[in-house]
Amino acid sequence: MDYRIKSFEEYRDTYQKSVEQPEEFWAGIAENFTWRKKWDKVLDWNFEEPNVKWFVNGKLNITENCLDRHLETRGNKLALIWEPNDPKERYIRFTYRELHEKVCQMANILKRNGVQKGDRVCIYMPMIPELAFSVLACARIGAVHSVIFAGFSHTAMSDRINDAQAKVVMTSDGLNRGAKQIPVKRVVDEALETCTSVEKVIVVDRVGWAVNMVEGRDVWYHEELQHVDKVCPAEEMDSEDLLFILYTSGSTGKPKGVVHTCGGYMVYTDYTFRNVFQYEESDIYWCTADVGWITGHSYLLYGPLLSGATSLMFEGVPTFPDPGRFWQVIDKFGVNIFYTAPTAIRSLMGAGLDHVLSYSLDSLKVLGSVGEPINAEAWHWYHIHVGKERCPVVDTWWQTETGGIMLTSLAGVTPMKPSHAGFALPGVQPLLVDQNGDEIKENEQEGYLCIKFPWPGMIRTTYGDHERCRQSYFSTYKNLYFTGDGAKRDADGLWRIIGRVDDVINVSGHRFGTAEIENAINKNRHIVESAVVGYPHDVKGQGIYAFVVCGDEAPGNPENLRAEVIETVVDQIGKIAKPDKIQIVSGLPKTRSGKIMRRILRKVAEGDTSNLGDTSTLLDPPIVDEIIQGAL
Ligand code: ATP
Ligand code: MG
Repeated sequence: MDYRIKSFEEYRDTYQKSVEQPEEFWAGIAENFTWRKKWDKVLDWNFEEPNVKWFVNGKLNITENCLDRHLETRGNKLALIWEPNDPKERYIRFTYRELHEKVCQMANILKRNGVQKGDRVCIYMPMIPELAFSVLACARIGAVHSVIFAGFSHTAMSDRINDAQAKVVMTSDGLNRGAKQIPVKRVVDEALETCTSVEKVIVVDRVGWAVNMVEGRDVWYHEELQHVDKVCPAEEMDSEDLLFILYTSGSTGKPKGVVHTCGGYMVYTDYTFRNVFQYEESDIYWCTADVGWITGHSYLLYGPLLSGATSLMFEGVPTFPDPGRFWQVIDKFGVNIFYTAPTAIRSLMGAGLDHVLSYSLDSLKVLGSVGEPINAEAWHWYHIHVGKERCPVVDTWWQTETGGIMLTSLAGVTPMKPSHAGFALPGVQPLLVDQNGDEIKENEQEGYLCIKFPWPGMIRTTYGDHERCRQSYFSTYKNLYFTGDGAKRDADGLWRIIGRVDDVINVSGHRFGTAEIENAINKNRHIVESAVVGYPHDVKGQGIYAFVVCGDEAPGNPENLRAEVIETVVDQIGKIAKPDKIQIVSGLPKTRSGKIMRRILRKVAEGDTSNLGDTSTLLDPPIVDEIIQGAL
């Protein structure tokens, strides 16, 4: 059944129904999947403990839905296209039949190495096809995958392995990402020095580097392949059995092991994928996110494969060998739907128009953004120069904890507006509250974004520490899931995300979201990217400290640049939002998913850099030293 919403009117009706009869609504969607046994009850829930169960007692395997059920009608359709880091290396394509076979083989390798249903498996691999096989192979046999971005340090990895008590690690010898080389296996070896739970390490030969193989512990994937069958029956899973653990990126502190389960996550990622992107059977779809991030789980692998789509997986980075790579790949494969992050768009914007204008980009139909608020400048650039003003841009707000997209426009169906995510998806019931937890009903008012009713893709627990889940998300406001983000609705009810609540700056009683000020700063023609934080100020309570990254043609004299930036902000927002300090930096500290770690910048602004907290998830640690050196 095609359950895409095709008009604004239909959206309104569907939304209404999904709120009035959520159980009927989601059961209707869930009917479209292959279940070994149907559920007894659609939903059981309370937000107090919290305890949320969808499709209670239903039995299924998500890979039967991603793979097996497509074999008859889409067996020869492409499931995965893999584009390597180096454009001179040849791409590889896998049909659904081939992917099914690869996943079964990998699943048998896991079994051969002692992995059983319920065991945790850590996956630390570059963006290669074997990463996809590994994730799905775990799901096939009911093992719980925990993907760790292959770029994290050994301590970040050992923390996560120990938290999950993983039994097996799946990895590669090394990786090339852009011009960088990472000795992946060596990082694993270091991590395992402090992990006792790991019994086996399965190593994919990606780059052909010599690596240390520990006798009795480490095995080569290509050697294991010789011993396994191409058939592997899927394990029967309960709807609420664990599918995976994913540690959040840590922009706000110690990473949490967010847990998702099989049934609800399956229904939610498929439904949202089809609707948000208005996916059509023949579309080539490309999500640039790494699988180490929730976007890679939900919208590179599970959502598209559940929908029978052709999903492109890219090993490299947007700027290698040059900043035209994304556009070149889009033309090469005729990509129709393109989903990326504001950080990538901003960096490509900074590289100049020539790169993007050298490609036709004719195949594109829909553009998506995820991960942070997309500032108006970047939105317009994306819309005009990439989408040629022809492609709707979906600005999708969601979180690791939500499992799938929550607030967004539906491409070409519901209204889009720069700096606004849009309306809530059917089945999603957002609510804005004030400090006291009282609902803010009026539009154009800022508040804290909460969700008042469960949706199938939501977090079930934080691994090994249910209390932390309750405390983090369900204790701030009674009977509500608290997102940690501030938001407001415009006059028409479109949602705008202001930013994390922790990031709000209070200047002489005026509250600003960091995104608002950054948006203004980024309008200055010399600024590529910026981050603002508050710091204690004797007079104003909090002062505004801005970190700015300039483009090539910025004025050499920093004072001139500062004056210009201030003028832009005064112009855009007003004197009250004028930054007190502006530090020019060559880059910003970011998490692996490209998000600015404002937590660290706040410390710098406060002049307290003695304890920066967990920095293990930083992509480029040296930038922090540079920023500390240059602090004002
Ligand atoms: P941690 O929770 O460990 O600090 P994180 O919040 O960065 O890490 P994610 O779950 O990947 O980890 O990110 C979700 C957050 O990203 C949201 O809460 C929101 O602040 C921001 N975000 C994501 N998409 C959007 C968007 N389209 N617009 C605005 N903000 C967004
Ligand atoms: Mg978060």
